[in-house]
Amino acid sequence: MTFVNTLENQVALVTGASRGIGRQAALKLAGEGAKVIINYQGNDEAAKETLDLVCEMGGSGELAKADVTSSEQVEELIKKIMDRYGKIDILINNAGITRDGLLMRMKDEDWEKVISTNLTGVFNCTRAVVRPMMKQRSGRIINISSVVGISGNAGQVNYSAAKAGIIGLTKSTAKELASRGIMVNAIAPGFIRTDMTDKLTEEVKAEITSRIPVGRLGNPDDIANLILFLAGPYSDYITGQVIAVDGGMTM
Ligand code: NAP
Repeated sequence: MTFVNTLENQVALVTGASRGIGRQAALKLAGEGAKVIINYQGNDEAAKETLDLVCEMGGSGELAKADVTSSEQVEELIKKIMDRYGKIDILINNAGITRDGLLMRMKDEDWEKVISTNLTGVFNCTRAVVRPMMKQRSGRIINISSVVGISGNAGQVNYSAAKAGIIGLTKSTAKELASRGIMVNAIAPGFIRTDMTDKLTEEVKAEITSRIPVGRLGNPDDIANLILFLAGPYSDYITGQVIAVDGGMTM
């Protein structure tokens, strides 16, 4: 791949970058010259592997272990980034989990954990970067929602509610920040091959694939490509949008 350094000297925070989509996003952003802050919650080994991959390709970055559900930890993380780099240009709100189950059997903790990680986490990180981005009068915030936040999914009331919440949060934030040069968009991935979807049986994967016009599940790279576009200079006039990357599944 040829990189043209469209993000040289930019500072990008990617939440949940130890694995899956977040890791691929960190690699792509670093490949374009951004300094990537690799956030994760507990998987030190996987996060270190992401950083090693960034360094191997000549990029620069650092690890930032912090739980996005904790506003204190998030505030502290953003303060550290500001103390070290003096700015933050790009926030990718990607950290997310699933705790699937039918509504009538869903436990309080499965509801709360998914809402706090997938929705409150986005709120915590976005609120923490808004002040520095407003001062800079520029910034990019990219929130990873899901197609199930648009269409719903049996067995995922918690997850789809959180992902639908991200869409409302994205549009309201976009309206608040557009005049300051901060573009805020959401990506709604379909089914992407990561640890999150590894849990699905082959039978379920085959059934899902049969509903995807492109005829395959997505790869983290399919999402990272759009993240890169929305984070870079070619998306100056795009804000408040929700873009599905799902092989045509929800058209
Ligand atoms: P994944 O492979 O399971 O990775 C999840 C990442 O989130 C890990 O880096 C994990 O860190 C981090 N994380 C979880 N809880 C966290 C917390 N409280 N604080 C900080 N980091 C936390 O997931 P993925 O499939 O790449 O998904 C990434 C995003 O895309 C999620 O928001 C997901 O909902 C969304 N999405 C995925 C799909 C799909 O098909 N895969 C489809 C639609 C949307 P540790 O490694 O430390 O645990």
